[in-house]
Amino acid sequence: MIQFTQPQIIIEGISLNLGIAHGQAYMYDPENIEDRSLTTKQKEKIFLDAVQKAVEICSSNLRYWQEKNHELILVQKALLQDVTWQQRIIEKINLGANIIEAITLVLNDLDIAFGRESFWQARFQEVKGITQLVRQCLTNKEVSFDKVKPIVLCAKTISPIEMMQFDQANLVGLVVEDSSFISHGMIIARSRKIPVVGGVIELKKFINNNDQLLIDGDLGRIYVRPQKAVIANYDSTKKVAPTNSGIKSINSSEKIAVISRDGIAVDLYINANISEDLNCLERPIIKGVGLYRTEIPFMMSERWPDVDTQTRLYLQVMNKAQEKFVVFRALDVGGDKTFQSIHKNFRETQSGWRNSRFTMQRPSLIRLQLRAMIRARVHCDYPNLPLHVMFPMITETQEMHFVRSLMKKELDREKNLGHSIPKEVKIGAMVEVSSIIFQLNKFLDLVDFISIGSNDLFQFFFAIDRADAVMSRRYDMLSSSFMQMLKTIVDQAKSKGIPVSLCGEMASRPIEAMALLGIGLRHFSINPSSIESIENMIQSLDVWSVQDCMNNCLSNDSLINKTSNLSIRQRITELAQIQQTQLS
Ligand code: PEP
Ligand code: MG
Repeated sequence: MIQFTQPQIIIEGISLNLGIAHGQAYMYDPENIEDRSLTTKQKEKIFLDAVQKAVEICSSNLRYWQEKNHELILVQKALLQDVTWQQRIIEKINLGANIIEAITLVLNDLDIAFGRESFWQARFQEVKGITQLVRQCLTNKEVSFDKVKPIVLCAKTISPIEMMQFDQANLVGLVVEDSSFISHGMIIARSRKIPVVGGVIELKKFINNNDQLLIDGDLGRIYVRPQKAVIANYDSTKKVAPTNSGIKSINSSEKIAVISRDGIAVDLYINANISEDLNCLERPIIKGVGLYRTEIPFMMSERWPDVDTQTRLYLQVMNKAQEKFVVFRALDVGGDKTFQSIHKNFRETQSGWRNSRFTMQRPSLIRLQLRAMIRARVHCDYPNLPLHVMFPMITETQEMHFVRSLMKKELDREKNLGHSIPKEVKIGAMVEVSSIIFQLNKFLDLVDFISIGSNDLFQFFFAIDRADAVMSRRYDMLSSSFMQMLKTIVDQAKSKGIPVSLCGEMASRPIEAMALLGIGLRHFSINPSSIESIENMIQSLDVWSVQDCMNNCLSNDSLINKTSNLSIRQRITELAQIQQTQLS
């Protein structure tokens, strides 16, 4: 039989994470279980197989989870094996529903039947939990990954929780249709050092399951079925990494500060999302963790973890950081970070029930978290260091009063119980909702430090969804309006002596970070994968000249502005070329 091999094609997308990867395409489409053409008997079998798989997951969870969770897992197992529940779903399938529709319909029926009374609501949540598990077993094609060959996952979009689910060493690259540099899915991909190309429209038209893919995350380019010569060229010129090797090894003579060519010291901290991120704390130039996203480690949990579980995690982080400080951000759920155990009654929107609003509704959740942080600081190997806690999404000064009162209550509670408390507690806030910028004067009196969350600030300022690929490219973070706003925050914080840093992804990009130095920012919290490029940029830059350039760009003086029609991005890029600033 004659075999036709399809030719190589090249797709130009956008770079969402740097690096080169070569592997087999895996088309991931969780919503698409094409079972309409199946017979009811076949659907029934797929459903029962998924139930069986969910039961097996519960059994293996019993081995891994602590004993106090056993009861919950046993309840889940019993519910899954409940023949009446299974039969109801099979009845719906027999009436013509597909599998996902059938399990959703039965769940909806039960929601109405159980009513709102709290005992029955708790039972309903248990059924909802197992429904979710079965859905995952039906849709989570991760289980059929080849566990050996390098895989390049191709998907419409990837949420942070999916990024955590695909925690396999042989996942070497990602291709996505719709995602942006600042979406949480991409932030986690960056932590895992997985090259990503985005902005590929209708990728199913060009890529088939099992196609060989070579992706160049630096250029935002995909080679589908690459020719041998292309692979050889990449092999010899650029590193094709089936599994990414991570950060550069530590050089014992490394300096302890990052100093610009004209002698300005810049403090670099890291954003920590997964435990591997903490490894770079061993590098002397990294001062600590400027943003520890506490919600990420627990994203995969069926239930929000108890105080002891949280205390153990925070204590491990503090011990790993040793003398360096760690800013623990209080729970920031909502938007694209949703939790089964928390979000049952809320719509998943970027501007909805996110952090401080949510906290005011469910203060007990945050109080338990603060309790765990307090205990971790007291019992870790470095109990004399201050505890740094930062609250996200503060929108009104009132909310700052509220979260401070929660911290006070927790400290008082520990004292009343005869427990020790940290020697010092520093309470900070993220500036990431534009309304707070109009209350800066009062707000800065209520905080010990601030960190600018440019990812969210960008979406709220320009009224866009941060994960939307098209919209996030429509506006520029280096536009004069956005930069002017950032300068206002930096100037006011400095004038009040409040330490200010920026922990959004923009500080991890050399051109953007140059502009931030130009508006006077000296503390950056960055993605660990960007340490080298930001360090190189700073060391090869005269800060005064970029400061001069930014003053000109943001000046209201039309005479000064008339000297150039270029955008801030163009002017900073030009300056980098003149100064031979290293941008990678
Ligand atoms: C931000 O919004 O800039 C930020 C750092 O927080 P997150 O990306 O977790 O929302
Ligand atoms: Mg944010």
